[in-house]
Amino acid sequence: MNLLIIRLIIFALLLFAGLKLYRMYREWKLEREELLDSDTTRNEGGHMVRCTYCHVHLPENDALRERGEWFCCGAHRDKFLEEQKPPQG
Ligand SMILES: [Zn+2]
Repeated sequence: MNLLIIRLIIFALLLFAGLKLYRMYREWKLEREELLDSDTTRNEGGHMVRCTYCHVHLPENDALRERGEWFCCGAHRDKFLEEQKPPQG
């Protein structure tokens, strides 16, 4: 009879510990996901823009802005501006 009570107590303790661990794990996981979310938004600088010249998508932070248009690099910006110039001569 005593053995049964001890087993019940051990079972209850294990159940209690398991629930506590599960809750800790869930909180830890939620915190991690929040951290990851803030990391990605910071790295991408909010949203993506498109190069007007080659139409490639890139983070706003890495893009160049000229006359209201976005460009992936200085070369594409220069080429686009060259093509925008009215023909001379
Ligand atoms: Zn480009």
